[in-house]
Amino acid sequence: MLDECTGLRCPVPSRGYQLAAGTANNSRAGGVDVDVVVVGAGFSGLYTLHRLRQLGFSSTLLEAADDVGGTWYWNRYPGARCDIPTTDYAYTFDPELDEEWTWSEKYATQPEILDYLRHVADKYDLRRDIRFSTRVDTAVWDDDARLWRVRTGDGDEIRTRFYVMATGCLSLPKSPDIEGADRFVGEVYFTSRWPHEGVDFTGKRVGVIGTGSSGIQSIPLIAEQAEQLTVFQRTPNFSIPANNGPASEDVLAALEADRDGYREAARWSRGGIPTDPPELMAATVPEDARRERFETAYESGELFQILGIFADQLTNPAANDVVAEMIREKIREIVDDPETADTLCPTDHPFGTKRPCLDTNYYQTFNLPHVRLVDLRRQPIATITESGIETVDETFEFDAIVYATGFDAMTGALVAVDMTGRDGVTLEQKWADGPVTYLGLTTVGLPNLFMVTGPGSPSVLSNMTVSIEQHVEWVTDCLVHLRQHGFETIEPTEVAEAGWVQHVNDCADITLYPVANSWYMGANVPGKPRVFLPYIGGVDVYRGACDEVVERDYLGFTLRGTDGTQCNDGVVRRLQPDVALVLDLMAGLELPPIETMSVTDARAFVEESAAVRPPGPDVAEIVDGVLPGVEGDLRYRLYRPEGPGPHAIVVYFHGGGWVLGDHQSDDPFCRDLCVRSDAVVVSVDYRHAPEHRFPAAADDAFAAVQWVAANAVELGGVPGQLAVAGWSAGANIAAVACRLARDAGGPAIVGQLLVTPVTDCDLTRASYSENGDGNILTKPLMEWFWDHYADPQDRSDSKASPLRAEDLSDLPPAMVVTCEFDPLRDEGRAYAEALAAAGVPTRHLSARGHIHTSLTMVDVVLSGTDARAEMAQMLGERFEASVPA
Ligand SMILES: Cc1cc2nc3c(=O)[nH]c(=O)nc-3n(C[C@H](O)[C@H](O)[C@H](O)COP(=O)(O)OP(=O)(O)OC[C@H]3O[C@@H](n4cnc5c(N)ncnc54)[C@H](O)[C@@H]3O)c2cc1C
Repeated sequence: MLDECTGLRCPVPSRGYQLAAGTANNSRAGGVDVDVVVVGAGFSGLYTLHRLRQLGFSSTLLEAADDVGGTWYWNRYPGARCDIPTTDYAYTFDPELDEEWTWSEKYATQPEILDYLRHVADKYDLRRDIRFSTRVDTAVWDDDARLWRVRTGDGDEIRTRFYVMATGCLSLPKSPDIEGADRFVGEVYFTSRWPHEGVDFTGKRVGVIGTGSSGIQSIPLIAEQAEQLTVFQRTPNFSIPANNGPASEDVLAALEADRDGYREAARWSRGGIPTDPPELMAATVPEDARRERFETAYESGELFQILGIFADQLTNPAANDVVAEMIREKIREIVDDPETADTLCPTDHPFGTKRPCLDTNYYQTFNLPHVRLVDLRRQPIATITESGIETVDETFEFDAIVYATGFDAMTGALVAVDMTGRDGVTLEQKWADGPVTYLGLTTVGLPNLFMVTGPGSPSVLSNMTVSIEQHVEWVTDCLVHLRQHGFETIEPTEVAEAGWVQHVNDCADITLYPVANSWYMGANVPGKPRVFLPYIGGVDVYRGACDEVVERDYLGFTLRGTDGTQCNDGVVRRLQPDVALVLDLMAGLELPPIETMSVTDARAFVEESAAVRPPGPDVAEIVDGVLPGVEGDLRYRLYRPEGPGPHAIVVYFHGGGWVLGDHQSDDPFCRDLCVRSDAVVVSVDYRHAPEHRFPAAADDAFAAVQWVAANAVELGGVPGQLAVAGWSAGANIAAVACRLARDAGGPAIVGQLLVTPVTDCDLTRASYSENGDGNILTKPLMEWFWDHYADPQDRSDSKASPLRAEDLSDLPPAMVVTCEFDPLRDEGRAYAEALAAAGVPTRHLSARGHIHTSLTMVDVVLSGTDARAEMAQMLGERFEASVPA
């Protein structure tokens, strides 16, 4: 198991945690005071402590507050409650606990959740290892002793082998940051630090600043007491009624019937609650059915319902606006004064890209005569004064000001502790441009540090108790693994961390989340880097990645012990997230491989699949026609862009291994190409194998190019502005057509776009062994295509394998697109290199994380959007360059 020893120094016989078996004394003998220091006594810290004990580790939990509860200790403002149903928002690790606790409401109040966490602390006798009223200020990694020195506010130092930050995603309140905030002499309250004895606002003039979750929950209740209430709103948030009441009968019945099954389904769900992911795209649902789906979700009063009405509502602005507009309609229906209603309607961010809220009578509160809304976008606060608040337009007098201004989310509490890792690097320095983690759990340079629900994990986008349990179990299982195998330290590698950060960003980038100025993006804290903080790939996908890391021998981690070092370096998620989803979906369908079908069945299958895909963007006009091929008419489909024209023309050849497909089979991709490149696209249905074998397809391709060039004006094109494009086998014949045109002295072709082209018949390249299985286009399928298309002796002919052409000079400028996980990747690369070597201006676009088919899946694989835009841009540039000066 261990590799050769890397000569690590280890002056301290630091085997404390190996011997500890629950006794701090043994740990002390090993140079550490405890095996593990845990910081924070909320849901995360309490479970960590419990599990560490069960597994025989000595541990101390340090908590700034004077009791357990975390979020539910601090946030005692009126109306504070959870917004995930409490049947789901609770621990599940102990069936006895799960069954013995009954929640009084669907969304329990803060006092009830706090009671629950106190009950947990008592039930498992956790308090004896917790030091309350103890804040951790600094933590320094001692690389020689391989331990953390954790220092508390009261000056103590605790030496620990492992250090778990269970400090919460929403635990560091954001400072109000408003001019004059310390001048006000009246009562000042922060929702996140609410007095334990409560506040009575009766007869008082109250100003509330902030309309996020805490503001939206507290405002209706403050209004019930206050004589006057003024709400200062900078950004309106979307909120729907919680419709609180008894727990859902369906959920209770499901728990009754199969508690374990229900909990397991939650663990493997997208958000940590068992719900069916939406399948329908908004555009495919008729207007009345859309409304019905919306009303059902709205009535449910559940976030995951309203966030999951349509499959594309968090990726497609138009789909999002369908839902957003219906919520705005509701706001306008509820609020009497149209101007106030308008001010309360969010229009600056897509619905869901900031955490939506659940409320009880929030919007109704603004109909009360003593409640007023002030729009800080129209009249910003100039200063806070001794007696109230001055905006640029008005002066307000208050007895009390309530700040509901939110948190420095996800990174705040972590960076607030001055943490120094190896070589004196601090966490703050390391994260200066945004947090970088491996799995949201660990970070390079700070060995043996674990973060529960850290940045880069699903955390705040999920039902957090499910995510917390998963993290705690992963971390504690990891410690057991280290103990069992004699390792003392664990640290991610640079490669694994960079790969994870890339994956987290890839996931966010295909959604609308990054466009909002939300706390998910760090945008609520001045100066905080604008980075999407949580992982949006889903609880299920995330759990799968964490499990896979373990199964692959702690992939991406370096484990060190006195006997040596182990490192299986690598990146756990390399496919683009939407490509991975497509592959999962296909695998779930358990379809027979195409190469096992007859040609007729394979064609029927391709046609059926095409019928259910999203259509792609609208174009101005589609015309079907025929053009003369070598041995008879060939069908074509012409896509015309908006605008009077004439336009440049692209002759396009579809994919399908010379066997499958026709002039309409790449319809969404052709539409996309047409719209993006502002060119007429003529997609040609060349003759197919096995009926017409090599070189029929290539000859037809050249004939089609000749005909389109000759009829450019009639087709609405600009003579001379003609490019050729193709995908896969279509790119193969496009490349050949360019050579035939060169050799025939015309027609002139201004550019060639070859998307994942077949360029050679050699199936032994590395990309075939790496990607020849499981990525839709497989090696057996490619063999099947070749068998149908060309006899073995013909395959090395340059009309079948253009890479083998003796002379590639003087061909049209090219863009060759290859995909990382495509069996054809290496022959595409080789062709790009060969073209460049022959003096042809060539751009090679290498699509990271993509498979052979994914770039053409318009509106399904959104991560291909940038590549599609680049292709169109290349064509545009070629057309521009071809215009005579
Ligand atoms: C008002 C509100 C409502 C929420 N509702 C939901 C919901 O419905 N569903 C959901 O999934 N999530 C909800 N959340 C998120 C919530 O934070 C998590 O669900 C969960 O409670 C987090 O538990 P935790 O133990 O990870 O962190 P926390 O509960 O935040 O606990 C962290 C603890 O660490 C302590 N701490 C931090 N730094 C230090 C330090 N340096 N030294 C010592 N102690 C320190 C803090 O005092 C705190 O007690 C809500 C959050 C808020 C603010």
